[in-house]
Amino acid sequence: MGEVISATDGRCEGDPAAPITGFSIDSRAIEPGEGFIAIRGPNRDGHDFVAKALETEAGCAIVEETFPADTSIEQGGAGAPSEYDEARLVRVRDTFEALNDLGREGRDRTDHAVVIGVTGSAGKTGTKEALRVALSPSGSVHASAKSFNNHWGVPLTLANMPRGIDYGVFEMGMNHAGEISALTRLVRPHIAIVTTVAPVHLGFFASVEEIADAKAEIFEGLVPGGSAVINRDNPHFERLTAAARSEGAEVVSFGEDERSTVRLMHCDLDPNGSTVTSDILGETITYRVGAPGRHVVQNMLAVLGAVKLAGADLKAAAEALGALQPPVGRGQRFVIATERDPVCIVDESYNANPASMRAALATLGLTPRSEYKRRVVVLGDMLELGKDSPRLHRELAEAVDAAGIDVVFASGADMASLFEAVPKERRGAYAKTSEELAPALLSTVQPGDIVMVKGSLGSRMAPLVDELKRKF
Ligand code: ATP
Ligand code: MG
Repeated sequence: MGEVISATDGRCEGDPAAPITGFSIDSRAIEPGEGFIAIRGPNRDGHDFVAKALETEAGCAIVEETFPADTSIEQGGAGAPSEYDEARLVRVRDTFEALNDLGREGRDRTDHAVVIGVTGSAGKTGTKEALRVALSPSGSVHASAKSFNNHWGVPLTLANMPRGIDYGVFEMGMNHAGEISALTRLVRPHIAIVTTVAPVHLGFFASVEEIADAKAEIFEGLVPGGSAVINRDNPHFERLTAAARSEGAEVVSFGEDERSTVRLMHCDLDPNGSTVTSDILGETITYRVGAPGRHVVQNMLAVLGAVKLAGADLKAAAEALGALQPPVGRGQRFVIATERDPVCIVDESYNANPASMRAALATLGLTPRSEYKRRVVVLGDMLELGKDSPRLHRELAEAVDAAGIDVVFASGADMASLFEAVPKERRGAYAKTSEELAPALLSTVQPGDIVMVKGSLGSRMAPLVDELKRKF
């Protein structure tokens, strides 16, 4: 508690020796003993949930000076100040600032940890989770939960970083220029990875170059002597490298390009994963990657480069990647036995952009015909692509064809452009929303099919995965 009070410059009547075991900004997820930080969000105000958090034995609640006067009373909820145990309230000027203060404090208290930051247009969470797996044989790892990669998730993850941890891994995301800059200055990574740069969130940017520049902001927070790990196969490699050098970073490049210092030498892709040989900063190793797709192989080059830079055990890391699983909603496979042939449902419902769509389609194309007779895709809109959105959807037709997809289902305004671009005999059905698409989809899918469901989170494709699972 004393640390909380001094880090946030807060006011509290409680015992500075009281233990606070961590922090949460979600009253539903809070653990006994944790500090609840009452954040004002766009839809909800955390101050409305202070009573609930304290009921569930939160160690303390960090609230603004005015609490509860301007929130809970008018909501008819919490009541007068006297109803609160003042000893468990830490009053601060601004709870968002307090969250950042606690993040900085968390970063400062880890003296010997190697800190790794991950950004990119796709593959941040997959790369972050793989780093957790790869570094675990070498020491203790603290990594972002889920996709906690924004102005709340990053400081919260820092605030929760245990003293004495060996490795910290932080996902950093953005929708606008300047956001990564703020995050990386909190994280202060020793190693900064940019997985790839691609047209995502184009709605907020004039060009892909601007997106590259926004990703390159991650290098601004590197500690002196830090390393930048950059995809050499990406067209924006030179631009990112120049940005990294201007921050004084050592550049490590990864990819198939012969000049890469982390270089893919050989790779056999199969539907369950890949067998890879690569040169990791002068050390040649062969290993198995347990999740399928060329894009995963690429991300793992960045992972192994970072492992070596971090001074961790490279061989143990490479071996650990054999047990890799795709994160939730990003390529998880559910094989369901039926009385006839099995059905496979590939859950890619968590998100979509042109790069990840192509990656997922190509991975589906690896499925042997002897295993599943028909390849079915169910595609929802890729959101936030701006004015070029219909074209970016339509252009996927080539990837659909290259992957040998037999039946295409589509939903959403922009997916109509793709649906019209695929040959008539391969069209399953189209509907404006995923709900309306369900009946046609469910009546078409049959034993022997492999079905991939993908779209942006806002396109609500996940319910279709559930309905398909229920059908078989
Ligand atoms: P978000 O911005 O939603 O947090 P993310 O960057 O964390 O996304 P992941 O969740 O790891 O990305 O992966 C999302 C999808 O992107 C995966 O399903 C996968 O198909 C695809 N993907 C992963 N890595 C790459 C890559 N290097 N290139 C293209 N697509 C990729
Ligand atoms: Mg993510």
